[in-house]
Amino acid sequence: HAPVTTNGSAVHVLCPEDCDIELLENGRTIDDFINIKIKELTSEDNEEPFFVANLDSMFKRHLKWLTNLPRVKPFYAVKCNNTPAVVQMLRALDTGFDCASKGEIQLALSLGVSPEKIIYAHTTKPLSHIKYACSHGVNMMTFDSEDELLKISLCHPKAKLVLRIAVDDSKSLLRLNLKFGAKLEKVSKLLERARELDLNVIGVSFHVGSGCTECASFKQAIADAKEVFDKAKMMGFQMTLLDIGGGFSGREDFEVKFEEFTEVINDALDKYFPPESGVKIMAEPGRYYVESAFTLAANIIARRVITDDMKELCNGNNENCPDKMMMYYLNDGVYGSLSCLINDAAHTAVEPYLHRAVDSSEQRYPTVVWGPTCDCLDKVTDNIWFPELQVGDWLLIDNMGAYSVSLTTDFNGFERANIYSVLSADILHALNLSHTYKIMQD
Ligand code: PLP
Repeated sequence: HAPVTTNGSAVHVLCPEDCDIELLENGRTIDDFINIKIKELTSEDNEEPFFVANLDSMFKRHLKWLTNLPRVKPFYAVKCNNTPAVVQMLRALDTGFDCASKGEIQLALSLGVSPEKIIYAHTTKPLSHIKYACSHGVNMMTFDSEDELLKISLCHPKAKLVLRIAVDDSKSLLRLNLKFGAKLEKVSKLLERARELDLNVIGVSFHVGSGCTECASFKQAIADAKEVFDKAKMMGFQMTLLDIGGGFSGREDFEVKFEEFTEVINDALDKYFPPESGVKIMAEPGRYYVESAFTLAANIIARRVITDDMKELCNGNNENCPDKMMMYYLNDGVYGSLSCLINDAAHTAVEPYLHRAVDSSEQRYPTVVWGPTCDCLDKVTDNIWFPELQVGDWLLIDNMGAYSVSLTTDFNGFERANIYSVLSADILHALNLSHTYKIMQD
């Protein structure tokens, strides 16, 4: 399924049967899929939680990327969601991949990604993982210290190195630069060391922090990178690659629109790295591609009705005070698919909603939703009013694609949620047609 174009580059046609992707045909929608799946599971007495991965959404977000950041080649950060169908969809869309370890490189290669389309974007790598990258043709990798340079010179002396610099991430929900990135004043020394070791440094990377809320962070980081390019040039290095990292939200309702970021980024790129500079630009988006594509469906497996302390809860306001509050226990929680609630500073709250329709006139009650394990930390939300629900009801949670499936545990023996990846037949057709067109053009 990877015909080779006459100019030698592989084109990947997406083949749903090979990728565990279900096709939505004849106008069937994601909602139809979820309804059918819940009906099917219920009829089998199976209440296991599941994700639906909406690959149409990833396709649309990719088009948005191409439209708004035409100069920036995305290398999807696999750590954000390592579902094979996600990787296969993005491979078909011709993105590159940011891998953080041997395991992620193995996954990408096993799904047909070519090694030139991988950057090993971790600055602190185990020796054996560097050796693995070397023996499998993965040459691009990041570094930010002299020790790392020494390791790379021993295990992968022909690597194409990208110097990760520390940038201001104070306006991001999840900061990364305390742990990674060389300070600007250390750059010259690092480059000198690279030269002594006869290593090939091809460019600069940074990460403004995940869930960035301030366009100016990118502007400043791009200006910082230009400073490094200039220093390197004076030292005789000819750098050709700028990697602007990740940090873009994947939610449509995020406080700053993607287009606001891209306008600032494009201006900064044109100012500091204009097309005639010949510098190639790439990025490492993670949540951008997957966050809004995944919906989690979880089942209420137990409940408790609380009738005491209601007056206290209502702060003495007896008139509208409900006579009870409800506690529901879902079969997925913070040790499973909702791990973001404790692990991801950029996703600290979720808004479950009821799958079945309810009458708007139904009485609502203050509600706490718990996860299934024996731990009190395992709370999904306590900030919601629901009608009275029953064991067996399903709740849905949107925007669950980022740092969720890749961070789950099987604590208490609860199984990980199944993932059903779905794609509209029309989009598959358009995607594969565009590949055919490319081949014909070549
Ligand atoms: N690149 C690197 C090196 C990262 O550490 C991360 C996230 O931690 C990403 C890319 C992806 O970031 P995001 O999901 O914010 O786009």
